[in-house]
Formats: sequence, C-alpha cells, structure tokens
Amino acid sequence: MAHLPTDDLLALDRAHVWHPYGPMPGTVTPYVVESASGVRLRLARPVAGRTELIDGMSSWWAAVHGYGHPVLDAAVRDQLGRMSHVMFGGLTHEPAVRLAARLVEITPEPLQHVFLADSGSVAVEVAMKMCLQYWQSVGRPAKRRLLTWRGGYHGDTFHPMSVCDPEGGMHHLWGGVLPGQLFAPEPPAGFDAPLDEDYAARFDALMARHADELAAVIVEPVVQGAGGMRFHSPAYLRMLRDLCDRHGVLLVFDEIATGFGRSGALFAADHAGVSPDVMCLGKALTGGYLTMAAALCTSAVADGISRGEMPVLAHGPTFMGNPLAAAVANASIDLLLGQDWQVEVKRVETGLRTGLAGAAELPGVRDVRVLGALGVVQLDHPVDMVAATEAAAREGVWLRPFRDLIYTMPPYVTEDEDVARIAAAVTAAAVAG
Ligand SMILES: *Cc1c(COP(=O)(O)O)cnc(C)c1O
Repeated sequence: MAHLPTDDLLALDRAHVWHPYGPMPGTVTPYVVESASGVRLRLARPVAGRTELIDGMSSWWAAVHGYGHPVLDAAVRDQLGRMSHVMFGGLTHEPAVRLAARLVEITPEPLQHVFLADSGSVAVEVAMKMCLQYWQSVGRPAKRRLLTWRGGYHGDTFHPMSVCDPEGGMHHLWGGVLPGQLFAPEPPAGFDAPLDEDYAARFDALMARHADELAAVIVEPVVQGAGGMRFHSPAYLRMLRDLCDRHGVLLVFDEIATGFGRSGALFAADHAGVSPDVMCLGKALTGGYLTMAAALCTSAVADGISRGEMPVLAHGPTFMGNPLAAAVANASIDLLLGQDWQVEVKRVETGLRTGLAGAAELPGVRDVRVLGALGVVQLDHPVDMVAATEAAAREGVWLRPFRDLIYTMPPYVTEDEDVARIAAAVTAAAVAG
C-alpha cells in the first residue's frame, strides 16, 4: 500500500477524523507518527527539529514495556496464526481462560470472577451493573446510587461520566441526563499524609445518611489520574473498606490507570492491603498493544447476581475476550512479573524525583509530585498546551499536558538517560506553558 504524503494525511485528518476531547475540525495539528519502537516515536515530519521523540506518556498509561517489544510482538503473531477472534458466547479459548485465571491469581484474593470487556469505560459500566444488579437480586432494589469522592475520572460513557468529577466531567452540560450520584469532597492530598479523622467522620455520616440507596462506592485507589493527578494515602482505602462493610455498601476500585505497577505496587489496593468487591483493570493490561479491560468481582457478588430473578449478567460485547488482546495481555503480564519490575519502577521514580526537583522553584509552579513511575508538575494556571507540547518536543520528548498539569508516566523500560531527558522536558514545558 502506498503511503499518503504527510500533507494529504493531515488534510484528511482535519476534514474527517475526530480526535480525543477535540472539536471538528481540529484546531491543533497533531504530530504524525510513522512508527514506534522501544520508548521512541518516529515522526513523519520533524517537530522542533526532532524526528524522534521519547515517549513520556506510555500511550496513556498503557505501553509499560515500550513499543515493538519482541516478546509481545511474537505473542500477537503466534495468536494470529491460530485465530484473531471468535465470539465468546457459547465458545471459549485458552488465551481468555489463561488471562482470567492469571488476573484472579495476581489481584487481591477475594476477587474470583472476571468479565473481559473491550475498553476501560465498558469495564466500569460492567462493574456498576454488577453492583446494582447484586442489590436488585438480593431484594434491595432501592440501592442503586453510587458514591465517590471528587477529583475522579472513570471514563467517558454516560454512567462512568456520572462519577467523574462534576467540573472536570462537565456535568453542567448533562443535567437531567446523567444519573445523580453522591459526591464526597476530594480525599486529602498526599501519599504519606496521615488519615484526617474529620474527613473520615464526615464520609461516615454521608454514608450513614444514604446507606439505604447506595449500591457502591467507586474510587480510583491512591492515584486520581485524569481527574487531576492527585495522590492520597492508602489509609483512605482502609477507611472505605471499613465504612462500606459497616454500612452494607459494595466497594469498587477502578485500577484502570494504577494497575500493573504504575504506583509502585502491582495494584494500588496492595498499598493498603485491602480488597474491593469489584475491581476494574484496563490500559496496561495488554501492554498497550490492543484494547481490552476487565471487571473482577468476588464470589459473593457473583452468587448474588446469579441467584436473582434475572440470574445472568446481561452484558456481552461483540469483541469480548478477544484472543489477540488476551494473548498479548498474558505475555505482557508474564513479561512484567518475570522481571524485577519493582526495581524498574523504583528506578524511574528515582530518576523523576531527581530530574523534577528543580521544577518546584519555577515561577508558576504550584506543586511537584512523584509516585512510582508517575511524575506531575502542577501549574498555578491553565497550561498553554501547544507551547508546552512544543517545548517538550524541542527536548526530544512527547508529552500531552492538560488543564494545569504537565505529567509523565514513562514506560518502565525507559533508561536512566531517557528518564532524565523526560524530566528536563517536563521542566521545559512548565516554563513554556
Ligand atoms: C482511562 C480510564 C478509564 C477509561 O478507560 P477507556 O479505556 O479509555 O475507556 C476509566 N477509569 C480510569 C481510572 C481511567 O484512567
């Protein structure tokens, strides 16, 4: 197939292609990526004199092993030789079964059953459906509302949107469309901060008032990602587990961003030593190769649903359990757990801490924070996205800032020199943006 000249490609892109969170036609020209390998994106046309950019984003948390990894490539090719897809209704196959069993093995022990979804938002939808249907099935149909804390992000389809931060999620656009969920204040900031007893008491009171109508509490554990890149103490997860048990409410952890080591623990729940009743996984699940996500639940949740008046979970995406995605997910998990991944994440963390230390002193910078392989510079003003992105590109790095945040979550395989360059680019972006 002949390649499109870059000018033509960009003209067609602008005329027809909707990009994430963008208007139509787009107002900002995207960079055209020709190929990617290791931690580098190769551009069709130089940007700020660079034809290669170090990827500081892992393609939105996903590509933890970098691009074109020989083991992952081989897993896809191998599976392709057998079948790329078959329906999952009435059929099953080894890649999906292996993956489900593996996820049960590596997540907290009470999680025993796995629904394979085709994207993170759908996994969140399924998690919510599990919780609402559980209460319906056990004779408590009034328990159908959800409680979360502010500052969260759970996806862009409507029910997940209803538990995104009301401002970040632009709830004002959707009055009367989104289900009205309950919001507690943001959890107090800081991974190392002690539990604020006052916050816990108010959360307790809120739950007590609404226990009769609450199906579940849903949060992102330890790291709130796209809602603001904020960190909180694992103590708040223990608080939630305790309050949910006491008030008879299910607990959902959305680990779509935090799963597979990003925060320094394999799952953020592991920092707290607690298990949710339902857990969502996605993003790094396939090492960034293909779209797949999962909702895991306990036997109590599964039994409740399966003994109800509608004893089935009525959900079944066309591409459920996709063999290519499952095969590469299995390979990605083996690759991650087959090495000393904690050392690698720690190494990236140390590099980011060192490299970003100076950024705290810059004018316009409100906060610098690092946890695991995630580094964040928060400005005291909205970032000039084009200027900040170009400043990073000038340093040879791909970053995608948003709101007041310039942040990076590099692939775990990023070498020290490249981590240093990423940190320098974040700093340059903070100055320019
Ligand atoms: C990205 C994300 C989602 C949505 O996943 P998609 O695959 O984009 O639908 C949900 N929850 C969290 C915490 C996420 O980071």
